[in-house]
Amino acid sequence: MSSENKRNFLIILISPSGGGKTAIFNKILAEDNEIKYSVSFTTRKARINEINGTDYNFISEEKFIEMRNSSEFLESAKVHGFWYGTSKSYINSVLKKNHIIMDIDVQGAKQIMNSDVDHITVFILPPSREVWLQRLKGRGTDSDEVIQVRLETAEKEIQEIRDFQYLIINDDLDKAVNDIKTIIKAEENKIERFINIENYYGG
Ligand code: 5GP
Repeated sequence: MSSENKRNFLIILISPSGGGKTAIFNKILAEDNEIKYSVSFTTRKARINEINGTDYNFISEEKFIEMRNSSEFLESAKVHGFWYGTSKSYINSVLKKNHIIMDIDVQGAKQIMNSDVDHITVFILPPSREVWLQRLKGRGTDSDEVIQVRLETAEKEIQEIRDFQYLIINDDLDKAVNDIKTIIKAEENKIERFINIENYYGG
């Protein structure tokens, strides 16, 4: 029985800013070649060390609207004033061989939860409000105003936490990553994800 006989799925990580999601993504992707990152489309401008096609596909608002009108997105949402979206064709082609891990907001996650694409949802929280505030301020890249907006968005998102399946408290990076990998393993082994198992062992 090979991995060809198992159906791949989307791993949706949801976390308020300052939850420590980026470090988790980087570690999982570095440690597991079977998992690919979903490169989103966005209308926001690239930050200084971001690479087009690797971090995001940076596109104009016109192009984004055009793609949205022709139903090219599995999900799309406006976050902090910019559009973000996940390409349906990209997801479908990668899922043929790999799981895909994705960094999307709560609105986008809910659109996928209402679609027929196989997925799991994992919410990530910092260990406490104090640590969270420290992390947000400690980045040193955002103004107090920006931090305040992020905090308010995050507080609203946390109110919706019970709509998701798994919770990881990101106290220790290694532990958080191991817990997520354990969840993925368990999900992979669900009977529903095995294709044609009856015929494989049948007479
Ligand atoms: P940033 O611009 O800081 O990279 O991301 C801002 C927010 O947009 C984050 O909450 C991130 O999860 C969300 N985001 C990134 N890509 C997508 C996407 O493709 N779809 C949706 N719905 N949200 C996204």
